[in-house]
This record gives sequence, structure tokens and C-alpha cells, in this order.
Amino acid sequence: MSTNPKANYLAHQTEIDAAIARVLASGGYILGQEVSAFEQEFAQYLGVAHTIGVANGTDALHVALRACNIGMGDMVVTVSHTAVATVAAIEMCGATPVLIDVLPETFTMNPAHLAETIKLYQGQIKAIIPVHLYGHPADMPTMMDLANQHGLYVIEDCAQAHGAMINGQKVGTWGHLATFSFYPTKNLAALGDGGAVVTNDAKLAHQVKLLRQYGWQEKYISDSPGLNSRLDELQAAILRVNLLYLDKENHRRREIAQLYHQMLASTASRTVSLPQASPNVTHVYHQYVVRSQDRQGLQTFLKQNGINTLIHYPMPVHQQPAYRHRVLIGPNGLAQTEQLCQEIISLPMYPQLSNEQVEKISKLIGKY
Ligand SMILES: *Cc1c(COP(=O)(O)O)cnc(C)c1O
Repeated sequence: MSTNPKANYLAHQTEIDAAIARVLASGGYILGQEVSAFEQEFAQYLGVAHTIGVANGTDALHVALRACNIGMGDMVVTVSHTAVATVAAIEMCGATPVLIDVLPETFTMNPAHLAETIKLYQGQIKAIIPVHLYGHPADMPTMMDLANQHGLYVIEDCAQAHGAMINGQKVGTWGHLATFSFYPTKNLAALGDGGAVVTNDAKLAHQVKLLRQYGWQEKYISDSPGLNSRLDELQAAILRVNLLYLDKENHRRREIAQLYHQMLASTASRTVSLPQASPNVTHVYHQYVVRSQDRQGLQTFLKQNGINTLIHYPMPVHQQPAYRHRVLIGPNGLAQTEQLCQEIISLPMYPQLSNEQVEKISKLIGKY
């Protein structure tokens, strides 16, 4: 397994089972005290004023965009090298995605390209969604400067970066809003679907809260058209347990990355190139992604030796059948994205992975 959601459950099984039993016995299963408590605890963890639990990470992006009044006729800039969910959410609110390239060093949005894209589509772009891909923060200080100069909203897609930091400040606290997914393989995981929107802005928080439940301010009275995107009590109770271990598990992910790095730097520098963390960032290694000129051969060799790897992601969004005729591409093209999608391979990475397993995988890569 490249990621292992069951190992995550087993690691905290006693506490999770108790949390589930508590919810089942309570008789309240939707938007009750577990959700409220999790929202408070996660806001406190991040250092942000408001957390609103929603059904999943895609909905989190969708309602965050709608809270900013973004819809038909508006453009939203994001990267093509991301989970398709980022782009799907932009279309869910009727806006047009403009896809730009990433920096090859960090796999995150290229700020120079962002500046040129904003210039080209002056007045039409309303928001930017940087993605902290693989657990590495995008360059938020530079992009916030740009966005503030042009009066644009910034929504951080933190689905792969719970706990990551820039200069000691957590991702999710830089933009006007930020979104999280708690899909079972993420660094902070539910045992089912879950997501959250976070913000320091009380007005935006209020809008998100209305949107997640039919636009209700008061039960059964819709003040604005909304949707149903609620986090449920069971998932919130599970998330409260897992949140207690997030920092410890992120620390273990960094140890594993360090070990891969040591082992691979000496044995395999010609076979693969290794991920780098920028200075001043705390990388949380949602994935440990290396690049290889012979990705297919390496993946097959590892598989023959019992090691399953994954590709995140094999086809950039602008080339996928659903999107290739619909999205706009920024003025600098997508050369890095197209190149790296041929070369990337995600090695096994989850907190319960042992040093022996990491050593075995690294030695196999060296042998290859
Ligand atoms: C997982 C993920 C999402 C979507 O989250 P879901 O909870 O699966 O809807 C969005 N963006 C990125 C970068 C992701 O990795």
C-alpha cells in the first residue's frame, strides 16, 4: 500500500471505538456537539477564528467559492497539477477554471505565472486557489501580495497539508478562506468522507454556515439558496481523536522522508530525483514523490518485489477528457506539469510505515 487508512484506524482503535459508541448512544447524528467541538478544536489547532465542518473537501471548495459570490462569468485561477476535485469545485459554482503551471522544485503554483495570468485576464479573475500539494506549502506570502494588489480572493486548498507551515504559521491561515478534506488517506483522516472550511472573516464564515445547510438561519427558513453539505457526528468524533495525534504523525512522516532521503541520496541518485522542501517551510509529506526517467520500469520492478506505488496524478486536469475543451490555460503554458506527470511516482508514505520497510524500499530502488 502506498497509503494505509486501515493502519491509521488500528493505531487509535480503542479511542475511536469509544468515540463511535458515544455518538451512537447520544441519539444525535447530524450537526451536534461532536461537530461543534471538532470545529473549535481544529480552529484552535490552526490558529484561525472559524472552522465550519462540511461533507467533503470538494464541497468545502465549492461553498468557499460561493461564499465569495463567485459564479457564472467569473474566472478562478488554479493549477492543472492537482486532484481533479480542485477544478471540479470551480465548475460546480459556474465559474471558469484558468489553469497554470507549477514550480518543478515544490510542485506548487508558479507565482510569476500567476502575475502574468492576472494581467492577461484583468477584471475577470475573482479568486486564486493555490494547492499545497503533497504536503508542501505553496508560496503564500508572494501570492497574498499579488492578490491584495488586485483585490482577489485567495482560497487555500489544504486537502494534503494539515499542519504544514510557512515561517511557523500554519497553511489555512494565509488566505481569505481555506479548505480541508478528511478523506481516509489524508494526514488528518475520517473513516468516511469529511471536510472543512476555515477563515478569520466572520462574514465569510457566516455565509459558509448558511450554505452548508439549505441557507437556513432559522430551521426550515432559507435566507439564501444553499445545499446539504454537513459533516456528521460520527466522523467529527473520529476526527477529534485523530487530531490529537496529527502533529506526532506529521513528525513521523518527516522522519520517514528523512530516511528515504538519506538512503536514496547515496544509492540511487542516478535512478530518481528526490523531493525538496523550501527553506522556512514545514513539509508534512502527505506523499513522498520522486521523479524517474523510467517511471514505468521502476514501478513494475517495485511491484514485482511486493511494493505498491501510486501516481499522483498520471494525467493533468487540462488533458483529461472531461476538461480538455472547457478549461482555459494561462499565458505561460503548462510545460512543467506535462513533463513531471510522466516522471512522478509516490513511494509508500504513512506514519505506521517502519524504518525497515523504508530501508527495504530504498535498497530495491538502489538495486534497480
Ligand atoms: C483529496 C483532495 C480534494 C478533495 O477532497 P474530497 O474530500 O475527496 O472531496 C481536493 N483537493 C486536493 C488537493 C485533494 O487532495
